[in-house]
Amino acid sequence: MKLFSKGGADEVTGSRHYLNTGDSIIQIDCGAFQGRRKESDEKNRAIEMEMLHPSAVVLTHAHFDHCGMLPLLSKAGYNGNIYTTPATRDLATLIMMDSANIQARDLEHLTYLAEKKGKVFKEEPLYTEDDVVKTGDLFVTVSYRRPLPITPDVEMTFYDAGHILGSAGAHLTVNKGRDDQKTIYFSGDLGRNNRAIIRDPEEIPTPDYMVMESTYGNRLHEDIHDAMEKLAEVVSSTAKNNGKVIIPSFAIERTQEIIYYLHLLVDQGKIPKIPIFVDSPMATNATSIFRVHPECYDKKTQETFTNHHENPFGFNELKYTSSVQDSKEINNVKGPAIIISADGMCEAGRIRHHLVQNIRSPKNTILIVGYMAGHTLGRRIMERQKQVRIFGDVFNLKARVEKINAFSAHADYSEIAAYIGRLDLNKLKTVYLVHGETDARANLKKVLLETGVQNVEIVTPGREYEI
Ligand SMILES: [Zn+2]
Repeated sequence: MKLFSKGGADEVTGSRHYLNTGDSIIQIDCGAFQGRRKESDEKNRAIEMEMLHPSAVVLTHAHFDHCGMLPLLSKAGYNGNIYTTPATRDLATLIMMDSANIQARDLEHLTYLAEKKGKVFKEEPLYTEDDVVKTGDLFVTVSYRRPLPITPDVEMTFYDAGHILGSAGAHLTVNKGRDDQKTIYFSGDLGRNNRAIIRDPEEIPTPDYMVMESTYGNRLHEDIHDAMEKLAEVVSSTAKNNGKVIIPSFAIERTQEIIYYLHLLVDQGKIPKIPIFVDSPMATNATSIFRVHPECYDKKTQETFTNHHENPFGFNELKYTSSVQDSKEINNVKGPAIIISADGMCEAGRIRHHLVQNIRSPKNTILIVGYMAGHTLGRRIMERQKQVRIFGDVFNLKARVEKINAFSAHADYSEIAAYIGRLDLNKLKTVYLVHGETDARANLKKVLLETGVQNVEIVTPGREYEI
């Protein structure tokens, strides 16, 4: 039996892992590479060329770097099943559709630019909305803890990964009941305890082998309870100054989490009742998906939802805007307000318009709640550069900039070690580390060996590991 990764091994995007049992090939995730535009586009286009023909595909969660290239499978003629949870199916469809839409618009724009120069632009999009619809036909949804044979020799069970709504780790049993039975657990992205809305990462039966992510293999996060206090302080002090709080946020999970926390703070009287706008069509759509999946909520959210018939994603002060006109009208709001808008790294979307309107006044606060990659507008703001360029114009950054780290959706190294430490370490033979940069994986390996794990392998992309 062989284990190997074609992406998302020595980096954090483009997740694509395989288990070849000899009788079947199981593919885990089919994510997009992200980063510098040209480089990631080339890597994503290469996926199509080297696509294997798996017997079954498993999708762990709906982040673009795990689901974004699934349509290339159906485009390449794959007609097998893609197993995932119901919430992930819904969120992943939204994400893939959005990507197809962006690709189509980019193509239109590049064709227009080429024609202006008298040239012909030949490139095709990676995939279209039609390909996404075809991918939708391949999904078979499976709830948590429901064992299901996915090939004649492999049974799969999903466990809640506590990372985003619907996220799961996949527990595979190969040759069940035979002398040569083996179990392998693919962690997907591992979440953390005590997050809003979703449950903590679930306890799993100890596998023989584990493929574990290591994004924050060399980092420790702040406490989540401190984050609430800081959020309350930032909102209250900005409101006192009659300013606006601008929150660039990822449309999925982070936005709903922030909404949830703001709802709580309003109920507790810890922040004043000021208008809150969610100005991102993608976030609004994602929130409606959150509303129809109470099976993924933690106990507290479930109780609010079912016992008190309250909607955790809607309250008096909160307004979801969809049309461009509604979005523009936010500019006319006098007095304090909170504006949550995508893109999370300020590279696209409506957030840029809100920054243009508000970045020059010291009354306002830009609140960073997520990861800001290098070379993005969000990163430049986070670094408090004196001047930043938005839509080609230069703006003086006079607004206050604050950052809350604790909303991370990934476990840090102590949390990963505690999670693995609870397993039967006599049974667990090897942990294979993927989804992390070099330093992160090296540190996590050290920590896991100290925890008592027998063997830890740092996975090299393309290399086959015999198990
Ligand atoms: Zn993820």
